[in-house]
Parts: sequence; structure tokens; C-alpha cells
Amino acid sequence: MTERVVSFSPGPGVLPLPVLEQIQAEIVSLPGVGASPLEVSHRGAWFTGVLERAVDDLGALLDIPDTHRIVFCPGGASMQFSMVALNLPADERHPADVVVTGSWGAAAHRELTRLGPTRLAWSGSDAGYTRVPTPEELVGALSPGARLAHVTTNETIHGVRFASLPSTPSGVPLVADVSSDFLSGPLDIGRTGIVYAGAQKNAGPAGVAVVIVREDLIGRAPDGLPKLLDYRTYIEHGSLYNTPPVFAIYVIGLVARWLRDEIGGLESMRVRNEHKAALLYDEIDAAPGFYRGHAEPASRSLMNVTWRLPDDELERTFVEEAAAQGLTELRGHRSVGGIRTSIYNAMPLDGVEALAAFMRSFRDRHS
Ligand code: PMP
Repeated sequence: MTERVVSFSPGPGVLPLPVLEQIQAEIVSLPGVGASPLEVSHRGAWFTGVLERAVDDLGALLDIPDTHRIVFCPGGASMQFSMVALNLPADERHPADVVVTGSWGAAAHRELTRLGPTRLAWSGSDAGYTRVPTPEELVGALSPGARLAHVTTNETIHGVRFASLPSTPSGVPLVADVSSDFLSGPLDIGRTGIVYAGAQKNAGPAGVAVVIVREDLIGRAPDGLPKLLDYRTYIEHGSLYNTPPVFAIYVIGLVARWLRDEIGGLESMRVRNEHKAALLYDEIDAAPGFYRGHAEPASRSLMNVTWRLPDDELERTFVEEAAAQGLTELRGHRSVGGIRTSIYNAMPLDGVEALAAFMRSFRDRHS
């Protein structure tokens, strides 16, 4: 197949077409270099320039204050569950507070608990992860003595999100897994301790995490950590201690440029994302007896829209009929079922419009 489908893949997710086209143009021979981005030295002028620009562009897009540093760590977001625990070690008097709003928060909680004392500050598990806590609930739930407070800003599987960054008690650093809504809109980095994102949704290819670290926090890391699990290694060596994922960082740099030059920044990206998500939620709300949204309205994700149909058979038919029209990867995660559509930054508006039209015609034909 050479035609591109409209892929609603949860991750690795769709990348901007102009980025893919630039990669295609440069994959065999970079202008002025004469070699592929897959073949060049990570210490050569081309890549060190790419890395610097990627950091600068991400810093400008997110308006990152001087207190924070951007590094690229291999191993994806799951590696960050472990790195956070190792670099900000909890103890019995200062446990890691964890807010669990879905499967990924639960995964972070499990790993933090393997590596130190934790406190389950809030969990949406009993309610089936249909919402995030309100700011008022969180004030009561987070403890002032915690080493850190960990949240997942957007739950990729359940489709719930924090509409704004939660507040933590004074002195407790907020650690946020922003993997599936990174770069989808502005983020107040000044209010965070550590922010990390597996790149493969909104930022680029899989296998690397973009990590934004408040530098003073890292002074608390114990000596003797494995070199590659110590944030200081990445900060001191500008993400070039060992061979970094060169190709992935090159693509992240292209995506940052696309956001800056073609989208016009993260505020403009947020407006587009709100519009795209509203098209799908409007279809759900227009047919309450047929489409049942998973998330409570105040917690609805702009990136992963999740819903059920009246029965499993109809859900299967929905996914099959949609795929026949080139609308692919709509099956919900096996743990939740139903339908999940991931509409990351690079999903074009006409892809979402096509899905909304399909939802309408499917409802008319089957209800
Ligand atoms: N956190 C969130 C919110 C995710 O969506 C994912 C992956 N889907 C992960 C963590 C794990 O990422 P990785 O596979 O890069 O370890």
C-alpha cells in the first residue's frame, strides 16, 4: 500500500506530513553533508547543530525558564518512572505521592513503589478511571512532606486529562508524565520539578524521552547512581555522554520547527486541538443512547477520545467499517475495550472531520 491511511494510532502516532517529506528528502544524503542522518557522527557539526537547535526550539516553544534544562534520555517514558525514583529517592518520612488517573499512572506507581516508599494520594481506579481529581480534592490528597507528587497529565488509554497542571503543597516538586499531551498546548514549566514525555506521540519517534528537569532538584540525587540513569550525566554532557538516538532527535527537531513555523506555536496548537476534539465529542453527545463517552466531560482528553457502543459486536463492526474507509487504528486498548481515537497534533483536521462524518453515518445505519 502506498496511499496513506488516516491513522488514529495511540503511539507511535502520526507525524506531520511536511516532516516526513523532509526526512524522505534527506534520508540518503543531507545537503552539505553528503551522508544520511542515520550515518553521521553524533559529535560532528551537523548533529551537534541539530541537537542545539532542537533544545533551543523546544525551550522557546514551551517558554522554559532558566531554572530548567531539557535533556534527551533513551528508554522512553517507562524508563523515566525508574529515573525519577532513583534521582529523587523517597524514604519512609518522605514518600513519593502518586496520583493514579489511569493505566499509565498505575504503571508509574508500580515502578516508584518497587524503588522506594510511595503513598497512593488519589486513585480513579474504583470509578474505572473516568475522571481526574478536582483541584480541591487534590489539595486534601497531597501531603506536604512528600518527596515528590507524580501525575499523568493525559491518560492515553482511558482518555482523561488534567485541563491544567495540578498544584502541589509548597516545597513538593510536581513530577508529570506528559507523554501523550506534550506540545499539545502551552505548559507552565516553571511550576514543575520534572516533566517527561516519551516522544512517540507528539514529538517524534519512539525510544527516547524529552525530559525537562529543574536543575536544583538534581542536587538531591544520591552519588553512585548508574551513569546513564543519573540526570546529571545528561545535563553535564548536553545529552551527549554516550551515543544518543541521533535519528529520533533529528526528527524531534523537525517537529519543533513545524510547530513554530507552520502552526505558529503552542497556543495556536491548543486552539486547533480543542477544535478537533470537539468535533468528536459533539458526535458522542449528539447520540447519548448510541455512543457512550468514557470520560466525564470535565476530564475529557483532547488527544485520546474514548467511547463505547451498545455492544461488542457493533464496536467490532465500527472498527472494521472505518478501516475499510481508510480510518484505521480505532480499536480501544485491550484493557478498556470500545473505541479510542488518538488525534495528536499531526492529525489533520480533515482526518477528524472524516471520522466525525463516519460516526454520524454509522449511527444512522445501526441505531
Ligand atoms: N506514559 C504514558 C502517558 C504513555 O502513553 C506511555 C506509552 N503509551 C508511557 C508512559 C510508556 O511509554 P514508553 O512505551 O515510551 O515507555
